Amino acid sequence: MSAFDLVIRNARIVDGTGSPWFRGDLGVEGHRIAWVGHLPPSISAPKVIDAKDRILCPGFIDIHTHSDFLLLRDSSATEKLRQGVTTQGIGQCGFSPAPLLSEENIALLDQYAGFIKAGSTPEWNWRSFGGWLDVLERLPLGTNIAAFFGHGTLRIAVMGFDARTPQKDELDRMKDLAAQSMEEGAFGMTSGLVYPPGVYSQFDEIVALCQIVGVRNGLYESHMRSESDHVVESVAETVRVAELSNIPVQISHHKAAGRRNWGKVHETLRLVEEARNRGLDVTVNQYPYTAASTTLRSILPPWVHEGGLAKSLERLGDMTTRRRILQEILEESSWENYLLRCGGAQGITVLSSPRLPEYEGKNLEEVGEAFGRHPIDAAMDLIVANKGEDTACYDMMSEEDVRTVLRHPRVMVASDSIPGAPGARTHPRTQGTNPRILGRYVREEKVLSLENALWKMTGFPAARLGLSRKGILRPGMDADLVLFDPDTVLDGASYADPLRPPRGIDYVIVNGDLAVAEGSVTGTRSGKVLRKGSTSA
Ligand SMILES: [Zn+2]
Repeated sequence: MSAFDLVIRNARIVDGTGSPWFRGDLGVEGHRIAWVGHLPPSISAPKVIDAKDRILCPGFIDIHTHSDFLLLRDSSATEKLRQGVTTQGIGQCGFSPAPLLSEENIALLDQYAGFIKAGSTPEWNWRSFGGWLDVLERLPLGTNIAAFFGHGTLRIAVMGFDARTPQKDELDRMKDLAAQSMEEGAFGMTSGLVYPPGVYSQFDEIVALCQIVGVRNGLYESHMRSESDHVVESVAETVRVAELSNIPVQISHHKAAGRRNWGKVHETLRLVEEARNRGLDVTVNQYPYTAASTTLRSILPPWVHEGGLAKSLERLGDMTTRRRILQEILEESSWENYLLRCGGAQGITVLSSPRLPEYEGKNLEEVGEAFGRHPIDAAMDLIVANKGEDTACYDMMSEEDVRTVLRHPRVMVASDSIPGAPGARTHPRTQGTNPRILGRYVREEKVLSLENALWKMTGFPAARLGLSRKGILRPGMDADLVLFDPDTVLDGASYADPLRPPRGIDYVIVNGDLAVAEGSVTGTRSGKVLRKGSTSA
């Protein structure tokens, strides 16, 4: 038998396929798993870990994160490793740092993606998608990275923030960029159809681009047009994209937002199941919280964003326009009105407010009181002061729906994490998603079996990304591993204390190297940039 570099003994092994745990040992040679099963006591290695009957499973694959720009400031991915995440999918919800075409393009993209900049100061020293991956590849990465390109980014490159359908030559340029990005290693395309400029796109545009991505073996992930009043129609629209584009699709961070929409997830999940029965490849991801998180400016009607962030800040500076905005937010509306979905200003909490941090952690009702003005008026002041680089938490889902979605066999776990600037408050999902599933929904509430929950974090997302060497514990696979205590694992982060780390994740191994040992991050950076279509992926 060959010599191992690392041996883990006496584990309950959950292999990532959904199969029941079995007792065994695992040997690592270099960056690969070399042995899974019983190892005679005589076999030794430079490093031996006694699992003491804890759970050994594949590293978690968080397919949906907004870590893109964070990597430029801090590529350690500490908050991911502490949760057991060894691979992240970036470029989500239509936002990706590439491809770029021009200097002017950079300024627009800088505004567009401001809320996920995480305190980074990008040099913008890339243009193509492949160039962006090259930049990432030069960083000492804590986790592996699988990158998508954003439909919003593509649209900005070709037509800025114009609120119209593309002309034929514009669509052709977007298609060329999509094809090129796929050839350079993108895992697919993502959309954010509530955010400008995605919100200005029509169905046909998405289908045309997805056809390009589909033939190149990519995945389409969508933050749909509506996650509230029109969530059922939005799922139907996403299914239609799968049908007309012949592409696998994934519905991002699935939810039914707003009290009057609670329970609609039964209908949406039925649509997913029906689509699959018809041969359409549709799946879903979800984070395990009842509050969503995005920009604070998402409270504004779509027309306010037209022309980009500078334009919308200008509008907020004009008192007549501001009154009109306020009135529209308070009225019934066909757009995704977060104030109404949250049942009022109390349901919206400011998370990150870089220039006025004294309002972080306060809900808009409290912010309004502090300003002595209407909560939405006060929120508009915050947006102006922060130049749009702020985030908020929107409490608008039902716990029962969260459980219903989580239980569904076509749903995987993904954090949708939005990192903040150093020390800034973020949604607790950024620090706690995976341990929360394992502690709260598996151990405490028994919503899922341990093996099923782990499959939703490992084998399932690996298959979705087409990662043939990840997500399952077998000889020959990459040695991305997690060893955790099923009796103590739990998230620490809450809305009140969102940066507190989780507990119970004792060892995390990335490509054969110890990234977390005895519960502490080691500082080892062994992550790799994965490129779709390359043999390394
Ligand atoms: Zn999203």
